[in-house]
This record gives sequence, structure tokens and C-alpha cells, in this order.
Amino acid sequence: MRFKDVHITVAGLGVSGRAAARVLAERGAAVTAVDARTENDGVEGLDELRAVGVTVRLGDGATLPEGTELVVTSPGWKPSTPLLAAAAARGIEIIGEVELAWRLRPAEGAAPWLALTGTNGKTTAVRMLTSILTAAGHDAVAVGNVGEPIVEAVLAGHDVLAVELSSYQLHWSSSLAPHAAAVLNVAPDHLDWHGSLEAYAEAKGKIYGPGTIRVCNADDETAAALAGPDAYGFTLRMPSSGQFGVVEDLLVDRATVADPARSADELAELRDVVPFAPHNVANALAAAALARAFGVPTEAVREGLRAFRPDPHRIAFVADVGGVAYVDDSKATNPHAAAASLAAYEHIVWIAGGLLKGADVDDLVAAAAPRLRGAVLLGADRARIAEALARHAPQVPVIEVAATDTDAMDLVVNQAARLAQPGDTVLLAPSAASMDMFADYKARGNAFAAAVERLAGADPAGG
Ligand code: ADP
Repeated sequence: MRFKDVHITVAGLGVSGRAAARVLAERGAAVTAVDARTENDGVEGLDELRAVGVTVRLGDGATLPEGTELVVTSPGWKPSTPLLAAAAARGIEIIGEVELAWRLRPAEGAAPWLALTGTNGKTTAVRMLTSILTAAGHDAVAVGNVGEPIVEAVLAGHDVLAVELSSYQLHWSSSLAPHAAAVLNVAPDHLDWHGSLEAYAEAKGKIYGPGTIRVCNADDETAAALAGPDAYGFTLRMPSSGQFGVVEDLLVDRATVADPARSADELAELRDVVPFAPHNVANALAAAALARAFGVPTEAVREGLRAFRPDPHRIAFVADVGGVAYVDDSKATNPHAAAASLAAYEHIVWIAGGLLKGADVDDLVAAAAPRLRGAVLLGADRARIAEALARHAPQVPVIEVAATDTDAMDLVVNQAARLAQPGDTVLLAPSAASMDMFADYKARGNAFAAAVERLAGADPAGG
């Protein structure tokens, strides 16, 4: 696609917006980059943009620049944002950085995309996939919602791209056709942005383009419906022919088996999945299915899963204090994610709370109730979780911590330690966003780990 002399407005100067503006300017487009923030708000990289001829307009994210022929928007901008609404009203096309990257792919020898989306597990699965592709000898990188900007990656000469896509990025895409793509799961999240669960699911379905090998979670009704009947399903149940799944303690491929004499190819052992939890087995199967759809041999799947190391704050073991395991799953920022990590442990003191973003926790609490030793709640919406616990688990002791200052996590961890018995797991799986008390989920997880370390220091038996 030619961009020379096309008047393009880049809306939002985050990392991906800056990369899009730069790449477009280098291709001769007349780029205006706009952001509601001002120079004083610390927008980075402005000199670099101006040096390649981008017109930068700060302090006004609302007005559509005159003469705009195409808008490249930051994924988080809602369609109702005045600038985007004005563009839509005039019939001007609006795309995101991912769609732009797709259109920028070189005509010859472009790296195929192996893409995935889902409410939860995206980063984990995309990193597992990258590890598998690397084990198979490919020059592969994880991009999209993680890593370097995808507009740069498509031009960097990699063999294959492992692409994590959010529902926002998919909303602003229109012509993607990855080599293979997977929907991991669909549960209510970001509904305020998309307007409804249907609209959210529809955005996720845009990951499948013409000719894409479709992979989906066969155990998730919405994901399976998006993929349709000819998809490679993956399942935690016994896999039927055409599926990926688990047989005894093995991950198996019953979908791409080349040898007609065999009914399944063995991919890896269950214990190769780290950290071991049912939802993580699903992530591993999704990664394996995408890799197999790209022709990766079984040995590389095993080797790649073994080499994989999870990103921090995703069911990360912190310490054992007095026979109690402390686990940081601060990244469980919605009920669907928290349900997955609660399902992985037997006797749990659950630390939860924060901003629920309107999500309902009743199902989550009802499912986890039999395994809860106790709960310690913090953050803005803690009362909503306390009410759900009172409804579904009245026998479970609940402590609410009202403090929001820097010592709050010490109070929380100390209360959890009092409730826990040897052999239990104290699990930070908040089910909620962190911004009421912390900069982000990482800061929340770090505060938890630091508080656990102080607890271990105070423990007479040692950590
Ligand atoms: P994402 O990139 O989609 O936010 P991550 O891989 O960062 O996903 O995992 C976020 C959290 O979601 C984890 O900490 C865990 O609590 C939960 N999770 C991970 N994989 C799954 C899954 N397949 N199903 C449900 N929850 C999951």
C-alpha cells in the first residue's frame, strides 16, 4: 500500500503511535500526530518525530486536522472520542497500528503471523509460542500487545511473528489474515469500551481472516463459536480427532498428525508446563497448536515449553513462610483470570480487591468457596467481594483492610498469615484492576512480595 503524500493523522503518541508516525513519515506520508497531553506531561520522543517531518500537535486530542485522509489511532481510543467520531462521520477510514503493520508488510518474503487473542492468557501463550518457534530454529519475536511495535517488527526481516492482539487492536483492524490464529477464551471484560459482550466477542473474531488456519479453545463456547466447525480445537478434556488435548500425562496433537498409522503425536509432558495450573495447560496447547499449524516439529514444542519462563506476577511463587506458600498472581485483574488461578490450589487464603470495573464476582466466589480457608480484601470495591462471600461462602472468615497507604499490603499479608495453616497457599489474585491503590498490577505484585519478605524476616522459623 502506498502512503506517499497521503495526509494521515496519528491519534495518540504512545509507543505504538510514535512508531506508526515515524514509519509513515519515512514512507513520504504527510503525518500529523496529535495527543491531548502537552509537552509538560512528558510525552516522549517528540524530537525524533519532528526530525522525520511529523507535525506534532499537543494539547488537543479532540479536533480532526483539516485534510485528513486516514486516521491511525491508538488502540485504547474509543470510537466515540470526538476526533474519531468526526472522522467516521466524514467517511474517513480509521485503523490501528496493527492494521497499519499488516498493510506495510513487504510484498515479497513477509514473515507469516501466528496470532492469538483472548480475555486472559495472551502474554503467557504468546511467550510460550515464541519459545517454541525459537526452539525450532526460527528467528521469531513476540509483538502486538507486547514487545516492540509491530510496525517495526514487520519490516525487520524476522522469519515469523508471534502476535498478541487485544480486543481494542482487533476492533481497529479490518483486513488481517494471519497464517494461523487462536482465540483462547472470551469472558466479560472491557465491556464499558466495547458496549456489549457481543461487540467484544465480535472484535476478537476479527483475528481470523481469509485462509487463516483457525485454532480455538473448544472448552469455551464463545471462542468455539467464533472459530466455526473446521477449527483445530484444544481441550483439557479427552481430545477427539482434529483436536489438541491431554491424554494421561501427555499433551497430544490429534489434528496435524502426518502418519496415517498414528492417531496422535505426543508433544510434551504435563510437567513441562510451568507454572503448572489447568489454565496454563490450555495456554500451552494453544501455543503448540499455532506452532504445529506452522509445521513446527513435536520435539521443538517440548523443548520450547521447557525453556519457557513466565513473566512476573503471573502465578509467581514468592516464598514459603512457616509452611505456607505465598503466590503472586497480581495480573489476575478480572474475575475470569482469578477463577483460573483459584482453581489451581486446594486450600487458599485469598487476597482480592481493587477496581472491579463493573464485573460480577458471584460465580467466581461460588466456585472457589469450598477451597477457601479465608479471604483478605482490599481496595475500592472490597465490599462487593465481601458481599459475594457472605452470600456464597458464609463459613469463610473475611477480613477487610481499609487502609490505602503504602503500609496497606503489610496489613493484608499479616492478616492472611494469621488465617493460613501449614500446607495452605496465600494467593494474591485480586480479580480487579489496581489503579485505586497502585500505579499498576506490577506495583501491586511488588508490594505483595516485599510484604511477604518482611513477614519472612519476622518469622522465627525463617523464610
Ligand atoms: P493477558 O496477556 O491476556 O492479560 P497473561 O498471560 O498476562 O494474560 O495472564 C494474566 C492472568 O490471567 C494470569 O495471571 C492468570 O491469572 C490468568 N490466566 C492466564 N491464562 C489464563 C487462561 N488460559 N484462562 C484464564 N485465566 C488465565
